[in-house]
Amino acid sequence: MIKAVTGTKDVLPSEIKNWYYVESLVKEIFTNFNYREIRTPIFEETSLFGRGIGEETDIVSKEMYTFVDRGNTSLTLKPEMTAAVVRAFIEHSLGAQQSINKLFYISQMFRQERPQAGRLRQFHQFGAEAIGSVSPFIDAEIIVIAYDILSKLGLKDLTVKINSLGTPAIREKYKTELKNYLSDKSDLLSQESKVRLEKNILRLFDSKSENDIAVMSNAPLLIDFLDEESLLHFNSVKVALVENSVPFEVDPKLVRGLDYYTHTAFEIISGKVGSQSALCGGGRYDNLIEELGGKPTPGVGFAAGIERILLAMENENVITKNYDVIDFYLIRIESDLESKAFELATLLRRNNYLVEMDYSNRSVKAQMREANRLNAKFTLWVGGDEYKDDSVMVKNMSGGEQSKISLKNFSSEIKKILEK
Ligand code: AMP
Repeated sequence: MIKAVTGTKDVLPSEIKNWYYVESLVKEIFTNFNYREIRTPIFEETSLFGRGIGEETDIVSKEMYTFVDRGNTSLTLKPEMTAAVVRAFIEHSLGAQQSINKLFYISQMFRQERPQAGRLRQFHQFGAEAIGSVSPFIDAEIIVIAYDILSKLGLKDLTVKINSLGTPAIREKYKTELKNYLSDKSDLLSQESKVRLEKNILRLFDSKSENDIAVMSNAPLLIDFLDEESLLHFNSVKVALVENSVPFEVDPKLVRGLDYYTHTAFEIISGKVGSQSALCGGGRYDNLIEELGGKPTPGVGFAAGIERILLAMENENVITKNYDVIDFYLIRIESDLESKAFELATLLRRNNYLVEMDYSNRSVKAQMREANRLNAKFTLWVGGDEYKDDSVMVKNMSGGEQSKISLKNFSSEIKKILEK
């Protein structure tokens, strides 16, 4: 039997309402903040991600789904959206049309990671990119949106962590300091951190190994190297968060995995999803657009993982049990009335009611069972004495009242019954 590929997941009809719920809330909140949706292709030229995310990052160096197509072009299924959105922003000169572009997305992403709870190879993110402003209020806005979406979904066990990564110049200076600090300690580090020491030194703060954590506990911190401008920016973000009731912690060890961040970086963590606890992450990227070939333009954004959010909602018991109901179930009393039942079902459906009927020539008893299973609010009985009288019977399944309605005035009589 062929099964779904490791790390991918079917979303079954029994779960889909939860997805609709998350997606509609996401769209509503983004819309209130005046973000407009952008959709980009599922794959891009591979070089976009190398240049955009950084060749030495985990994503680019080991997690991308890259393939050569029949035209000999190296393509990659998108592992994140920022580079793709920025590519579209530059390509369509969106910056020339308005000074700030506030964009949001909901899309699949692909990363060849080791699958576990909350970590998949094909997963979904929603997120935003606000391109064109250096204002710290835009950083704050992005964090407020992320926090509001998660809280409005009912999540309570949330921690917002923020940090400042300063400017690239400061970061380079700091990296040299960190390298000096680690120069006589590399023997104590895990194998993975030894590699990162050369390639992506900031990521040493992300290690889960106890030895690494011990070594890094006394390491110099980037936050102590920030210049006045970076500190001012960071301070304004923090004040705006306080004023807008977003609780947060400053985490000087929060570095994020991607190269392109400047100034603000943040994550929102759930206490309820185990080791893969980050529900969302983001930050400012003032140099990325220029690095990808655009005019120097600042930007800030975030991405949140939908599967992980649903897991947190499940574990916090905030997923309301799917209680599907339908408006009408049509019970066909005589088997030769299927065409009449179908005609009435279509009429009701065209009038915006959710309707089901039997297509398997089942007994009346089996049809009643089905009506109950589907939580029908009303059953509509087609056949019997009423039908001879050019009528059908409608039964309210909660109160039990029955009404005979004439087929001649079917639509208007149905309406009256529902209005009762
Ligand atoms: P990132 O783009 O790595 O900053 O991730 C942003 C968010 O996407 C994370 O906080 C997760 O919620 C989600 N995410 C990232 N990688 C995965 C994955 N492999 N599986 C499921 N969700 C993920």
